[in-house]
Amino acid sequence: MIKRNVLLNPGPATTTDSVKYAQVVPDICPREQEFGNMMWDICNQLTSFVADTECYTTVLFGGSGTAAVESMLSSVIGDQDKLIIINNGAYGKRMVEIAQIYGLNAIEFESSPYQPLNLTQLQSFIENSSEKVTHLAVVHNETTTGLLNDVSSIGVLCKRNGIDLLVDAMSSYAAIPIQMSEMNISYLTASSNKNLQGMAGVSFVIANKEKIENTKHTRPRNFYLNLYQQYKYFSENRQTRFTPPVQTLYALNQAIIEAKNEGISTRYARYSNSWEVLIAGLDEVGLSYLIPKDHHSRIITAICEPEIEQYDFNSMHDYLYSRGFTIYPGKVMDMATFRVANIGEIDYTDIQRFLEVLKEYLCQIGWKR
Ligand SMILES: *Cc1c(COP(=O)(O)O)cnc(C)c1O
Repeated sequence: MIKRNVLLNPGPATTTDSVKYAQVVPDICPREQEFGNMMWDICNQLTSFVADTECYTTVLFGGSGTAAVESMLSSVIGDQDKLIIINNGAYGKRMVEIAQIYGLNAIEFESSPYQPLNLTQLQSFIENSSEKVTHLAVVHNETTTGLLNDVSSIGVLCKRNGIDLLVDAMSSYAAIPIQMSEMNISYLTASSNKNLQGMAGVSFVIANKEKIENTKHTRPRNFYLNLYQQYKYFSENRQTRFTPPVQTLYALNQAIIEAKNEGISTRYARYSNSWEVLIAGLDEVGLSYLIPKDHHSRIITAICEPEIEQYDFNSMHDYLYSRGFTIYPGKVMDMATFRVANIGEIDYTDIQRFLEVLKEYLCQIGWKR
């Protein structure tokens, strides 16, 4: 048994021991057929969680989640294209920053981090653009707050306007149901260490095959992260262009088996159950959270900090950390929050224990509801 920590940060998440031990394997060269076949299976399984493998494909990268987002944006948007990026949190803002660095022809659609998107405003924003909008990028579950963007409706809007939809599904994939074809999603990004409950180090883009084939003539803006090159090389050779994170992929292979055994909808039910317990506990101690239930992802919660002088995030963090619970600082610009995620190999009983320790800390600093 390996010491079990309850990670309540939004990934890397708590993993099973079987996933941890899956990394301990005989040394192998990743250019061996055996390894290539495993990566091939991994890609097919990752695709099949959200799409059919006939029309969609998964492209792997060694790197954290942002690598996949950067690959997608820098490789898909051509010089003649026009991209709208929805920004209603830190991860939407990150896409804006990536677009700026690559000098993409992109405009930002800013929206409140607390309120659901206004699709009527988005539609007129598209209509008022001086150039034809070709692509739209959005974060599915805004990990800043837990605000769940309505990707289905955005997909309908994109279809109506002839726009390709790009989704950062990093913190929703493998929990919240996604069907790329029905939701009209052309490209989606995710990583190994969030709801998949694997180790950190692999990120991926799931793409519509026809669309990715069409990026063949798009001028490459980078080398390592070029999506088309990585796709083409892998589909021809069952190898990544450069050294993949070998052991992380073995862990991912095991994590996929476990995700399939549990079932994605059962996993989300388990997460939701933990979330309900968390929310009830917060109500009980008198702490409020930012996003109303109807628009909440039930994956990560931004909680308003206690407004008393004795409160200090770092001391609360350390108090909890030394008792086995890891919480995460807030990221909303103008609000004092901290974050608690309820993903990974944990359940509502871990949340109950967490709430007990949180209560102890709050009691100690003299917080009363
Ligand atoms: C976690 C996350 C990312 C990627 O973060 P990394 O630290 O690069 O893994 C990107 N977008 C969202 C919405 C996320 O939650």
